[in-house]
Amino acid sequence: MADQWETLERECGQCRGCSLWETRKHLVFDAGSRTAEVMLVGEGPGASEDEQGIPFVGRAGQFLDDMLEIIGLDRTRVYISNIVKCRPPGNRDPLTVEQDACIGFLRRQTALLRPKIIVCLGRIAAMQIIKPDFKITREHGVWFERGGVRMMAMYHPSALLRDPSRRPETFDDLKSLEREIRSVCKRTYPSE
Ligand code: SF4
Repeated sequence: MADQWETLERECGQCRGCSLWETRKHLVFDAGSRTAEVMLVGEGPGASEDEQGIPFVGRAGQFLDDMLEIIGLDRTRVYISNIVKCRPPGNRDPLTVEQDACIGFLRRQTALLRPKIIVCLGRIAAMQIIKPDFKITREHGVWFERGGVRMMAMYHPSALLRDPSRRPETFDDLKSLEREIRSVCKRTYPSE
């Protein structure tokens, strides 16, 4: 299995499937545990992520760590990736054509990981993974099931930094996530 992960990451590093590889500094493939039961998916790398080659670093990453801590988790207990693996210039949203070019890597990551729960961080991930017409303001925190995998979306940590008024709703979503993990995952809270 480790070989398969390495092969996939190497292939991704050599990808020229859209133009984003031309301006990135580093591929941002994943973080966390490749045996986790819970997968978190954002939209794409920002400047700090591009510098370090790691998803969710910088302020938004710190905020994501704080969110995980609220439900007793950290990066060693979840798997983290993005819809696109190379930084869109100027922190713009990834274009549909870029998302479509890259989504095959996320599908292969998901096939290797076989998560029990997928958490979409923000509208773009939810539209790609849950349904194309996903409305984050109305449907965050709502549980869906696709192919036996439980999934939901929360506001992206960057959105929560920009608009703190959304944090109480996100706290409720996190508590819902904790309940779902305790219900369907066996290894994520191992001490209990
Ligand atoms: S964003 Fe994805 S599809 Fe585009 S070059 Fe990078 S790895 Fe390839």
